[in-house]
Amino acid sequence: KLHNELQELKGNIRVYCRIRPFIPGQKGKQSIVEYTGENGELIVVNPAKPGKEGRRSFKFNKVYGSSATQEDVFSDIQPLVQSVLDGYNVCIFAYGQTGSGKTYTMTGPDGATEKDWGVNYRALNNLFRISQSRQGNFNYEVSVQMVEIYNEQHGLAVPDASIRVVQATSDVLELMDIGLKNRAKGSTAMNERSSRSHSVVSIHAHGKDLKSGSSLRGSLHLVDLAGSERIDRSEVTGDRLKEAQHINKSLSALGDVIFALAQKSSHVPYRNSKLTQVLQSSLGGQAKTLMFVQLNPDSVSFSESLSTLKFAERVS
Ligand code: ADP
Ligand code: MG
Repeated sequence: KLHNELQELKGNIRVYCRIRPFIPGQKGKQSIVEYTGENGELIVVNPAKPGKEGRRSFKFNKVYGSSATQEDVFSDIQPLVQSVLDGYNVCIFAYGQTGSGKTYTMTGPDGATEKDWGVNYRALNNLFRISQSRQGNFNYEVSVQMVEIYNEQHGLAVPDASIRVVQATSDVLELMDIGLKNRAKGSTAMNERSSRSHSVVSIHAHGKDLKSGSSLRGSLHLVDLAGSERIDRSEVTGDRLKEAQHINKSLSALGDVIFALAQKSSHVPYRNSKLTQVLQSSLGGQAKTLMFVQLNPDSVSFSESLSTLKFAERVS
């Protein structure tokens, strides 16, 4: 069954939409997203246009409503993660405006306990568990690197967290803590800055088949993208304007690459941004791509949600 699932995923782009719940301070608000069940459909409702013309439907591979748990989400992507140990390259993105739940999905909430760990901890845990269960047949070496891409030109490895071989999830927790602290530099700065940079956790697995002596290499890139919100050009200048332009450029370049891959186009424009250059070897070919499209259900987010959904529709 797993094999069939992987065959089906091969060369495919999957888009999973996740609607986050209202959070304290947002209570009692009306959701602009109607989630119609199991078949990947959702309807977004324009709060300013009641009636038919204010409704628009979208269809993705999956939709998670606000009650979906971190575990629900991970159990759906587990086969994809596991395929890294069979030599596949996998990329998992979280796309959406700031506050839509990208970091929650990829890392978890602030101070997460194991129960609400996001994709990156669960993925590593899973890779360790499976590689241990294959001991005797395979010997795996897993290394992890965290990179932050800020303002396009700089692909900075997080200081103190360049490529490291890791043996257990606790090593990774430590590594990521270092990464997060380095990203922090003051608490407001952290949120501000993290919403304007792409954060990439790269995991490489090198497996040796102990019988045949052959080896294989797989990789998993987990990408918490910069916020996709459009910045009003009339309101920002200088560094903020430059940042916004870089973010626009890299997100639209990413959209173009995934679109070209989904169309099976012969030309894939990887060179148009730092982000797509860094990820080139793990996008396309036999690589597998999954995008979490994150939505904030609040009516004030209607136009951002609509543009997020249009982006996602194009690449799916
Ligand atoms: P982003 O990274 O897109 O800016 P965050 O992941 O920081 O957004 O989420 C914004 C807020 O919403 C945080 O307080 C986060 O803990 C909360 N949140 C997001 N998704 C969920 C969810 N599925 N369940 C509960 N809280 C969530
Ligand atoms: Mg975030």
